[in-house]
Amino acid sequence: MLKHCFFLFCAVLGLAGTTLAGCRKGPPSQAEFALGTLCTVSLYDQGKPEVYRELFSRFREIESRMSVTLPDSELNRINAHAGIEPVQVQSDVFEVLELAARYAELSDGAFDPTIGPLVSLWNISGDEPRLPSQEEIDALLPLVSWRDLELDREGRTVFLKRPGMALDLGAIAKGYAADEAAGILRKNRIKRAIIDLGGNILAYGEKQDRRPWRIGIQNPLDSRGSYIGIMEVRDHTVVTSGVYERFFEEDGVRYHHILSPADGYPARSGLLSVSVVTRRSADADALSTAVFVLGYERGKALVESSEGVGAVFIFEDKSIRLCGGADFVLTDENYRIVSN
Ligand code: FAD
Ligand code: MG
Repeated sequence: MLKHCFFLFCAVLGLAGTTLAGCRKGPPSQAEFALGTLCTVSLYDQGKPEVYRELFSRFREIESRMSVTLPDSELNRINAHAGIEPVQVQSDVFEVLELAARYAELSDGAFDPTIGPLVSLWNISGDEPRLPSQEEIDALLPLVSWRDLELDREGRTVFLKRPGMALDLGAIAKGYAADEAAGILRKNRIKRAIIDLGGNILAYGEKQDRRPWRIGIQNPLDSRGSYIGIMEVRDHTVVTSGVYERFFEEDGVRYHHILSPADGYPARSGLLSVSVVTRRSADADALSTAVFVLGYERGKALVESSEGVGAVFIFEDKSIRLCGGADFVLTDENYRIVSN
């Protein structure tokens, strides 16, 4: 939520001229709660109510299929049949799972869509998150195993091979939803828009004056939503995974929501956040989570092996490293960019 407010603030701040132009033609933005977060769409031209309606109903459809909190979602149907039998799913669910499996392989399991049992155990997004015992973690770790996710393209079926396994698409489905939104914008011949799904930003087209959009990168140590720098992008997406988004603290230790499938604990890689910029938002979403878990050296290797991907790594000591051609301008003097 915090991440969302910040990005919306930046989009409006950086784009005042375009926003005012948008006001004359229709509402410049609309926000609704979906996908577990505040989703804001700003159409800077042709902001017709029917386009907004189509976008938000698609977000809700994706949520109804891919959520783990809605009991009747397709994802929960797959989870309920773990170790029992394959489940046939809609093509969008299958597509996201195929992409998730690909990123699990590319990241050597750092990104793992079968992280569900550990997410439930920690319950970091829930009302009563808690530090589990080592025994509890050890009991569930073997169930986090993307290689036991069986996808049959012909029958469009999904099977979790072992009882107790559970899928969670929290690290990729918002990116997919942003890409679906881009498809709806293309279909409706919209030229410029900002899609903000809880901080997953898709900057569609370019500003009216033909300049790139300016996207702020959240200060990961500041809960007030200030930014430490700007990325300039056209037709690209910027997605951040960080320690500040969802967490709880116990005995002075922060436990955040990005878990390492290797040991079952929140990933500790010396990073505060990773922002990934690329064309397709599902790629950026999966990669930002994967790279955060992998840490700098292995994460950088993954970014550099993927075409058209850039990343901004922010470390606990306030140093910043860029890789893969990220167009980032630092604005906060408390941080410093260091060379790789
Ligand atoms: P990201 O880094 O993109 O993702 C982190 C999230 O991915 C974690 O919260 C966890 O769910 C999962 N994850 C953790 N570690 C890994 C890993 N190693 N590999 C793969 N995945 C991992 N939130 C609510 O509070 N209530 C809701 O009802 C709700 N419904 C949602 C429905 C949908 C369809 C989606 C996509 C999200 C929903 N959410 C909901 C939010 C969700 O629980 C995550 O907190 C959110 O997606 C995190 O996104 P992020 O960009 O902050 O972090
Ligand atoms: Mg992600």
